[in-house]
Amino acid sequence: MATGGKLIVFSAPSGSGKTTIVQHLLKQESLNLEFSVSATSREARGEEQHGKEYYFLSLSDFKSHMKQDDFLEWEEVYRDNFYGTLNSEIERIWAMGKNVIFDIDVVGGLRIKRKFPERTLAVFVKPPSVEELKIRLKNRKTESDEKINMRIAKASVEMATAPRFDHTILNDTLEYALQEATKLVASHIAKPFLNAASLDSPHSILEEE
Ligand code: 5GP
Repeated sequence: MATGGKLIVFSAPSGSGKTTIVQHLLKQESLNLEFSVSATSREARGEEQHGKEYYFLSLSDFKSHMKQDDFLEWEEVYRDNFYGTLNSEIERIWAMGKNVIFDIDVVGGLRIKRKFPERTLAVFVKPPSVEELKIRLKNRKTESDEKINMRIAKASVEMATAPRFDHTILNDTLEYALQEATKLVASHIAKPFLNAASLDSPHSILEEE
């Protein structure tokens, strides 16, 4: 298990374009990335598939994983909508010898950075403005006005956490944001670990805290 082991977190308010950035990075073979599929208790939207965008669980299944301590981190991102990263997901990806890329909310992202400060690159994606965010969410046409307003209200709080991330990318011009993201991730992956011994067992790392 000497090659994989880096963690790359992209966090942002919903509608900031972080998913587009993450998808772009996943296409670049040289980065050796695999997407961390989160578990969620929310319903699947549109074309979403179980095991691809998310593992869609019932609320009671999600809660039983919480009780069994199966999550690296979990969050009630919106009321009754739980999201979390299963330890088994990281183990799956590290067993493939790959680096893990996360598309998760700011609280979860910062939690992973705190747990694994050295191996994690935490990037915050900033939308040009809250007004622009609203337009993007409306254009997406996947949620009701009530849900959109809930996401907008949360966005202002999330924006305030940007300084706690390693880097902030302003997603104003997508092309520039993609270039900057690629550069940041490539340089993080190229960096050697100070503590190389910790690469040997994902289990011991997941039990570090
Ligand atoms: P959506 O419902 O739009 O797919 O996601 C809502 C929010 O939950 C987004 O900010 C998304 O990044 C975040 N999210 C997705 N998976 C996880 C996870 O495993 N943990 C946490 N903390 N947030 C997540």
